[in-house]
Amino acid sequence: MTVWFPTNNSGPESSNNLPPSSAFWLSPMASAISHFVVGAGLALPALRSASIRQTLPAWAIPLISGILAAAPDLDTFLMSALDIPYNSVLGHRGLLHSALFLVIVNSLLALAAAHGASPAAARLGALWSCCALSHPLMDMLTDGGLGVMLWYPFSEHRLFFGWRPIHVSPLGVRRFFAHAAYILKSEAPFDLAAWTIGQAGWLVSGLRTSSGSRAPGQ
Ligand SMILES: [Zn+2]
Repeated sequence: MTVWFPTNNSGPESSNNLPPSSAFWLSPMASAISHFVVGAGLALPALRSASIRQTLPAWAIPLISGILAAAPDLDTFLMSALDIPYNSVLGHRGLLHSALFLVIVNSLLALAAAHGASPAAARLGALWSCCALSHPLMDMLTDGGLGVMLWYPFSEHRLFFGWRPIHVSPLGVRRFFAHAAYILKSEAPFDLAAWTIGQAGWLVSGLRTSSGSRAPGQ
């Protein structure tokens, strides 16, 4: 969910619940895993959609949805490559985390994947937009970094939820694994919730499909 900036324990970037020995830098690493898991889980009901299945193979539906849910953190690479300040519109958790931007981009991707306007494009656009929107909402639950420009361009305020139970992760693989249990434990309830919701949707849509297919003969 976040990047290359050190936190301190004062001001908006404070990370209140980190272990006291941690000189924490924020990185996208563990959060990218959770963003992917949440996006893939939320996509499970789409496996029942005939129009989406005509557009994509089953394996690609959770895979692409997970990737699109993690994709907003590509802004970290943009910042690094172009030396963009974190707190600017093009910085981390700025434009690429805006709800309107994510809906537009994912709708366009769906149009391209479905080769034009169609029920599949509409359903795929809705699915990918929902999965992508899970990203800024999860970022708003983290205890470090700057807030999210969720309503850009209508507002440049950076937002957090009042409840921020997800811990940020340190930069680098070794540092991450040194705190992996601490980080992943804070993210696990949200991963589990997304897969529970996705599986429930998958089951319900299966029941609707089977009752619909039986109806004409009854
Ligand atoms: Zn993010």
